[in-house]
Amino acid sequence: MSVYTESLNKLIEEFGKLPGVGPKTAERLSFYILKAEPAEAMKLAKAINDVKNKIKHCEICYNLSEEATCQICCDSRRDKSIICVVEQPKDVIALEKTGACKWVYHVLGGHIAPLEGVEPGDLTIDKLVSRVRKGNVKEVIMATNPNMAGDGTALYISSLLKPAAVKITRLARGIATGSTIEYASGRMLTDAIIGRQQLQ
Ligand SMILES: [Zn+2]
Repeated sequence: MSVYTESLNKLIEEFGKLPGVGPKTAERLSFYILKAEPAEAMKLAKAINDVKNKIKHCEICYNLSEEATCQICCDSRRDKSIICVVEQPKDVIALEKTGACKWVYHVLGGHIAPLEGVEPGDLTIDKLVSRVRKGNVKEVIMATNPNMAGDGTALYISSLLKPAAVKITRLARGIATGSTIEYASGRMLTDAIIGRQQLQ
């Protein structure tokens, strides 16, 4: 038997599934919603609904977008001859915050991890290869995470891109090995971008 009503219990349970939210916080958030003006509370419901229904993947780079192509791919000031390859949309955000990026991206949707059941075919690697094959690309920057899975993914992709005769670089080791792009500081990322080195 729960001391809460069924619907309140459900809300606490759902909040409790969010990262970093413990039972106490889940309870506090739920009572906040319960007391809030209906219109105010429904804004949260609508925001959740909107991100689930409106956000899709850019058909060129697979970054998050509410249109067919994302704002970065649509930006005429971007250098489309440089493609920066990242694992997740969050990495694009981290790199963009440095203000040092004038290129376009390619979001893989993860890294190759056979033990976790993630094969190359589960990522957007084939889309990247055909993007590069279309020509007009002079550099591909591997900005996958500096850990084993990220390094392995970068090497796999660079072997596929070898016949395309394009310059392939990897972010410099300013970011601690085993760390992730997402949590690296802006300064570290900027250094890693400037110091990027040619692969193989
Ligand atoms: Zn895009």
